[in-house]
Amino acid sequence: MSVRVVARIRPLLKLELDKDSIVTAAPAGNETVGSPTVVRIPNPKNEGEHFSFQFNSVYDQEATQQDIYDYEVAPTVKHLFNGFDTTIFAYGVTGTGKTHTMRGGKSLADRGVIPRLLSSIYRRSRKIEKDSRGSTQVEVAMSYYEIYCDRVYDLFEPPEKRTPSGLPIRDNNGKTVVVGLTERPCTTLKEFEQLYDQANVNRSTSATKLNAHSSRSHAILCVKVTQTTETHTRISTASAIDLAGSEDNRRTENMKDRMVESASINKSLFVLAQCVEAISRKQSRIPYRESKMTRILSLGQNNGLTLMILNLAPVRSYHLDTLSSLNFANRTK
Ligand code: ADP
Ligand code: MG
Repeated sequence: MSVRVVARIRPLLKLELDKDSIVTAAPAGNETVGSPTVVRIPNPKNEGEHFSFQFNSVYDQEATQQDIYDYEVAPTVKHLFNGFDTTIFAYGVTGTGKTHTMRGGKSLADRGVIPRLLSSIYRRSRKIEKDSRGSTQVEVAMSYYEIYCDRVYDLFEPPEKRTPSGLPIRDNNGKTVVVGLTERPCTTLKEFEQLYDQANVNRSTSATKLNAHSSRSHAILCVKVTQTTETHTRISTASAIDLAGSEDNRRTENMKDRMVESASINKSLFVLAQCVEAISRKQSRIPYRESKMTRILSLGQNNGLTLMILNLAPVRSYHLDTLSSLNFANRTK
C-alpha cells in the first residue's frame, strides 16, 4: 500500500500571458540542478519571503501530458494486472488543470491520463491473451459516476432519469457497492472512448439541470479489469477521480445552496486527506468509511496504489487558494 503526492503547475493561459508566474518548481535543498521536488511560493504577507513545499515530484509548465503519464501513471499498470487496485486523484482549485490532466484534449498529444491509461490496459490485455495462447482472458468494464452534495449519480443515466436523492450505497461482504450503478463492458479503446464521451455529456447537462457547476462534483471513473484463467479469476480496479474544485467557496459566496455544497465538498476532501495521510504513514486504521467517496473506493484497502496529483495555477489571482491547496497536500504526507 503506498501513495505518491505530486504537484503539477500549469502554464500561463492566453489571457494570462502578461502576468507573472509566482509559483515555481525547484530541486530540493540548495541544489540548483536535478529534478524538481519542491514548489516555491511567496508569503502573501511578505513577498520577500518564500514558502517551500516538498513532494515526491513536481512538474512545471514544460511538462507534457506524456511526461505525467510516463513517469506517474504507466508504472501503476503492472500493479493493476498483478491484482491490486490503483487510484489517481486530481486535486486543485477550479481552473488549475484537473480535467486537462485527467481527460485532456482531443489531439493525441493532449490526451490526458485516462485515455492513455486505457490504451495501455488494452495493449497489455491483448499481450497477456496472446502470450497465454488464449488460456487467459482479460475483460474490461467501466462505471462512471459523480458525487454531488454527498449523493451518487450514475453518469450513464441521462439527467432527466435520475432520482434526485441519488443511488443508495450498501455494504456487501465487506465491500461497499453503489446499488444500481451501471457497469458497461468495453472491449476496445474506441468503445471505451464512446462510452466515456457519452457519459461526460451527461455530466455537463446534469450540471446545468441541477443548477450546479460540474466543478462542484467529484467525477469518479472506475475501470474493472477481470483476468480469467481455467482455475482463477483476478479482479482489480483502476479509479481516476477528477475532484470537485477545492476553492474556499465561503469566501466568495454564501447562498444557502452553495453553503450545503461547500460543506459536503470540504468534508469529503478532508476525509480524503486523512485517508491519504494514514496510508502514507502506514497507519493500520484508515478512516475511509467516513465519507461516501473514500468508502465506495475502499481507499487504501486491497494493497492499493494511490496517486494524488495536485494541480496548481502559477498566477497571483490564485495566490491564497494555491497556498491552501499546498497546505492540504502537505497534510497528506
Ligand atoms: P479544472 O478542471 O481544474 O477546472 P481545466 O482542466 O479545465 O481546470 O483547465 C483550465 C484551463 O487551463 C483549460 O483551458 C485547460 O485547457 C488549460 N490547461 C490546464 N492545464 C494545462 C496544461 N498543462 N497545458 C495547457 N493548458 C492547460
Ligand atoms: Mg474541471
